Parts: sequence; C-alpha cells; structure tokens
Amino acid sequence: MAQGQEDEPRQAPDARNKHSRPQFWQLARRCCQLAASVDVAFFFLFHLLGSPILAWINVASVSLYLVALYLINKRRNGLAIALIWTEVIIHAALGTLLIGWDSGFHYFLLMFIPALFAGMTATKAWKAVAGLWAFYVLLFAMMWFVEPLQPISSNALLGVFLFNLTVVFCMFSYLSLFYVNTVSSAQRKLQFMATTDSLTRLFNRRHLIELAEKEIARCDRNPLRLTFLLLDIDHFKHFNDRYGHDVGDRVLERMSVVLASVLRTQDSLGRWGGEEFLAILPDTDAQQALLTAERIRVAVEEDQWECDGMPLSVTLSIGVSEYRPGEDLSVAIARADRALYQGKEGGRNRVELELT
Ligand code: GH3
Ligand code: MG
Ligand code: MG
Repeated sequence: MAQGQEDEPRQAPDARNKHSRPQFWQLARRCCQLAASVDVAFFFLFHLLGSPILAWINVASVSLYLVALYLINKRRNGLAIALIWTEVIIHAALGTLLIGWDSGFHYFLLMFIPALFAGMTATKAWKAVAGLWAFYVLLFAMMWFVEPLQPISSNALLGVFLFNLTVVFCMFSYLSLFYVNTVSSAQRKLQFMATTDSLTRLFNRRHLIELAEKEIARCDRNPLRLTFLLLDIDHFKHFNDRYGHDVGDRVLERMSVVLASVLRTQDSLGRWGGEEFLAILPDTDAQQALLTAERIRVAVEEDQWECDGMPLSVTLSIGVSEYRPGEDLSVAIARADRALYQGKEGGRNRVELELT
C-alpha cells in the first residue's frame, strides 16, 4: 500500500539491515548450517572420487561457515555476509577451474540473486548483481578456452553435477518458500493493523464502516433485517480523572471482552471512537436487538472486577437503530446516536430504540 510505504520511518539502510528483518538473519543462519552440511558431504564425496585437493577445500569452507555462524550470533552480520559471499565465490570458482564448467559449481552463484535483493537496498543489489553476472560470464568464458586443472572421470563428473544440481534445487525451493512466507506474514500483519484498534483489539472505525456497508448492500438485495447498537460507557471521564488514564484504558479493554462475550459470532463489534463501541447485528430486527442490548447492559452492570486491586463497576448506555432499506449508513447510525442520547438524558445505564 502506497500510504503505508510513505509512513515507514526513515532509517539509514545499514541500520535497517543490521537491526531489523530478524527472519532474514534466521535464514542466513539456516543457509550457513545447510551449506556447511553440504560441504561435509563434499569432503567425503571428493575423497571417494580421488580428488583430495577438492576434499580439503571443503574443510576450509566448513570452517568459514562456522565462523560466519558465530558472527551472525554476535550480530556482526555485515562481516558474516562478506565471509559467506567470499566462500561461495571462491568455492564456485575453484570447483569450476579444477574439474570444469560441467561440474555445475557455478549454479551456487545464482542462488545469491534473490538474497541480494532481500538483504540490501535496490541500488546496491543491482550493482552486486551486475558484478555477479560479470564474474559468472568471465568464469564461463575462461572455461571455454582453458582445460580443467584436475579433471575427474566423466562418470564422477556426472555424479558431482547431479549432486550440485540437487542441492541448488533444494536451496532455491527453500529460499522461495521463505520469501513467500515472509511476504504473506507481512500482508497478514498489515491487514490486522489496518482493521484493528490497538488498545481493545476490536475492529477499528474504518473497518466497521466497511463491514456495515457490506451488510447494507446485502439488505438492499434481499429482504433481510439489520440493526446497529451504539454503546457508550457512562461517566467514563470519571475513571480517567479519578484513577488515571491507564485505568481508563483497562476499562476499555475489559468492556471489549464483556461485549464480545455476549454477542453472536456473526455479529461485528468494534471501537467507534473514544469510549464508544458499535455492534452490527445482521439478520436481526429491532425487537431482537433490544433483547441483545439489554443482555449486554446487564452483563456490564453485573461485571464486578478489580483493576490494580481496586474494585470497579461500569455501566453503559445503548442506542439501537434498525436499518431502513435504501438509506445511508450515516442516517442509520445517526438514529442510534439519537437513541443513545435519549439513554443518557434518561439517567444512563439504559437501552433506547430510536424509531423516528
Ligand atoms: P457520558 O456518560 O455522557 O458518556 O460521559 P463520559 O465521561 O463517558 O463522556 P465524555 O465524552 O465526557 O468523556 C469521554 C472521555 O473519554 C474523554 C476522553 O479523554 C476519554 N477517552 C477517549 N479515548 C480514550 C482512551 O483511549 N483511553 C482513555 N483512558 N480515555 C479516553
Ligand atoms: Mg462518548
Ligand atoms: Mg461516555
């Protein structure tokens, strides 16, 4: 969402990389562990294939990955990434130089492309990708003209190629899954934040309006009943003034739990503003809504609870209005508001229905 991006706090890119995106560093840790395990497998594989130089290169690689893991745990992420990069580049280049392009060692270089974009700013990532591309092309061109320095039998080469290809496939799948999961969870978080009131965890006003408009559209298509309850805590200011703002907040939280416990699952409840709540009751006429509102009023009145050791009791007034086909949401809410006002005028702790 464009607005969300504009609202993002401004930070230096380095600060963003070092201190946020914990999932990214978790991924880097997992990749180190995975790569180190693959290199242990390579150590034995190359011994079997009679290529001790390549076998011992893997011992150096495992050591580098262990150091990188240690650095990530110590939050020296920049150094760790530099080390991982160095390892992959040197390993891919040495493997290719020693046993040839057909070994498939160069595929490991490609795995860094998505990681680059996830780990740095777009401009830096493009530059790094250009550098990687140049290195890749150079390696390919060189192997076009130069024979491998330590060739192995063609069957062994096929084995190494298949092993490398399999590891790269697995790692790419793992990385793709990670990126998809990260994006999905960010979307869910954004959706939650956009629709939820942070204090009460109920729907916020904007989302309530969306839900109410949907219900109204349903009612305009089918002969369905729809009612709104506007609920306002009585003398709420008194809680703030007497016990402090924090206690006021606790009262709001408590109310949200009590109200939600009385309503049905198909009803929607949210914070309309300050100490006012709105409940949307689909498939409910005014008489049924009055009964529900009365149940809520009694539940709140009878809810004796303690906040920081102080016994508190709260009451609320409720205005009820039934939607009339064709009217605007604001008109129906205004009627509930007038009913609420009558409840306040009538002495509070009351339920009122506005008919006119
Ligand atoms: P009435 O019975 O007529 O509704 O009186 P009231 O005191 O409940 O209503 P009033 O509008 O006079 O005061 C509402 C108060 O709610 C004023 C405002 O400071 C407080 N308030 C609004 N939002 C919050 C909040 O999120 N937390 C707390 N603690 N107080 C809030
Ligand atoms: Mg109010
Ligand atoms: Mg009030």
